[in-house]
Amino acid sequence: MTDKYAVIGNPIEHSKSPLIHQAFAKQTEQDLSYEKILAPLDGFAEKILELIALGYKGVNITVPFKLQAFQLATKLSARAQHAGAVNTLSFNGVDIVGDNTDGAGLVRDIEHNLQINIAGKRVLLIGAGGAAEGVLHPLLACKPAQLVITNRTLAKAAAMLSKVKAQTDTSVCVCGLDDLQGQQFDIVINATSTGLSDSALPLPPTIFSQDSLAYDMMYGRETPFMRLARSHGAQVVDGLGMLVEQAAEAFYGWRGVRPMTPAVMLTIKEST
Ligand code: NDP
Repeated sequence: MTDKYAVIGNPIEHSKSPLIHQAFAKQTEQDLSYEKILAPLDGFAEKILELIALGYKGVNITVPFKLQAFQLATKLSARAQHAGAVNTLSFNGVDIVGDNTDGAGLVRDIEHNLQINIAGKRVLLIGAGGAAEGVLHPLLACKPAQLVITNRTLAKAAAMLSKVKAQTDTSVCVCGLDDLQGQQFDIVINATSTGLSDSALPLPPTIFSQDSLAYDMMYGRETPFMRLARSHGAQVVDGLGMLVEQAAEAFYGWRGVRPMTPAVMLTIKEST
């Protein structure tokens, strides 16, 4: 019998996850279906219970339900606990198992696909929303020389810092956007949603150099962050690789088979 999976969000029409997972299934010869499902903003838990009753094996979770998925899960992976959010649910008998594959996806894209080691690098993480929270612990696990978190609302960055400070021997600190002047980073990660509204972050261009990687988690369009970084010589990458890699990690968790991602990335790029 074909195993059923889906991605749940609101809105959901834009989601590339069905294309990605269908490509993985074809490549690895797994008998599964994968669709996108819109959940009402006030009816996420009910939708999940309905899907479990219908025999679904698992779902990916996207905006705005990652926190609700975290609360609904009866078991959590260590990385979901660190992130405080869930992007993948597996339905195993009576258990609803929550995982977070976003951080693993980002790290794999940077280290494996782009061949840039995070260890020993100065890293700037911009943002303190769900995406930034999800990648913070996995980034620290890569042992950068220093990790600086900045955000428009500095208190949120400080709250993120306080959660990890005692658990890492990496130098990690918070810095206001205004105080970045004069600092330079090897890797700058934009985990804000500014790309969605085409708004520019007030970043001093001196944070970039010819040797920097500027990584925007947003994908499918050139953002003001990417334009700024490109005009100051940085290598610029969007979040498509992260999207495909986090999906591959979820697929591996569900099916026990790791798909090969480069061909799928190309397919998705061509479809945008
Ligand atoms: P959240 O809504 O949780 O967080 C938004 C973040 O953006 C906050 O830090 C917020 O700052 C900041 N922000 C929003 N508007 C502005 C602005 N005008 N100026 C400065 N800062 C701003 O979103 P997520 O963390 O869930 O997602 C962030 C981005 O990451 C999205 O673009 C999303 O598409 C992308 N993403 C990509 C993934 C991938 O696989 N490629 C996976 C997950 C997310 P403040 O705290 O001050 O409000």
